[in-house]
Amino acid sequence: MGKLDGRVVLITGAARGQGEQEARLFAAEGAKVVLADVLDDQGEALAKELDEELGEGTAAYVRLDVSREADWAAAVAAAKDAFGKIDGLVNNAGILRFNELVSTPLEEFQLITQVNQVGAFLGIRSVAPEIEAAGGGTIVNTASYTALTGMAGVGAYAATKHAILGLTRVAALELAARKIRVNAICPGAVDTPMSNPDGVDPDAVAELYKKLVPLGRIGQPEEVARLALFLSSEDSSYITGQPFVIDGGWLAGVGLF
Ligand code: NAD
Repeated sequence: MGKLDGRVVLITGAARGQGEQEARLFAAEGAKVVLADVLDDQGEALAKELDEELGEGTAAYVRLDVSREADWAAAVAAAKDAFGKIDGLVNNAGILRFNELVSTPLEEFQLITQVNQVGAFLGIRSVAPEIEAAGGGTIVNTASYTALTGMAGVGAYAATKHAILGLTRVAALELAARKIRVNAICPGAVDTPMSNPDGVDPDAVAELYKKLVPLGRIGQPEEVARLALFLSSEDSSYITGQPFVIDGGWLAGVGLF
């Protein structure tokens, strides 16, 4: 028996990285998964692969730019068309840009806010009524290590991730009576395309995290997917409104050795 048997979960940013691993794990645990992204080729290929591996009707891809209100309405309609209901949401899509605050163009700050923060808000607003209509369920928002502390060079991003924790807490309070639990995951450094920009030497990155992170390595997206599964399943039935750090101990403090 899977931990998500009978569930239908929409995952944003599901074409690659953490969202892809969440989609793979959730489907393996019995969920029908709606893969939403703007990377159509990768998203469609993943949906096809999951259908071939786990049975026709396991996954459906839908194009969804999370920053666009109209896209959400269409994605919800497509998901219900494919699977009849939605009772889980993972707000995972996000973008990162490196810039000092004093050099950040307004357009860049607004773009990051629109995707990361407004995207998560639109997701909650669009999908919560569907989850309620399905009898209850879960929402998992993707914040970050930078939701709980500062990091030079990612001011706009960190601001949106702090905001996601605010959204998570308020949504948990407002939706509890509707049987919807809302939590957030706060990953440290995770090995995905986002954390491996072009031109960065992988050996130098590995060396960096060996020093920075108490567990001595970067995290893997499969590890984040297991936390998202926990928060989307009955294993977390008495948990709502909380941030969950998954960072190899990075946020615990300064290591001396
Ligand atoms: P990634 O870049 O590999 O994947 C992000 C996915 O989101 C991509 O498939 C991308 O196409 C999609 N996306 C981007 N903009 C979108 C939009 N407007 N609409 C729909 N989809 C969109 O990154 P990842 O590391 O897998 O990141 C997943 C989440 O985890 C993000 O919210 C990110 O901020 C967060 N996070 C990542 C790390 C890390 O180190 N990788 C750390 C902390 C938090």
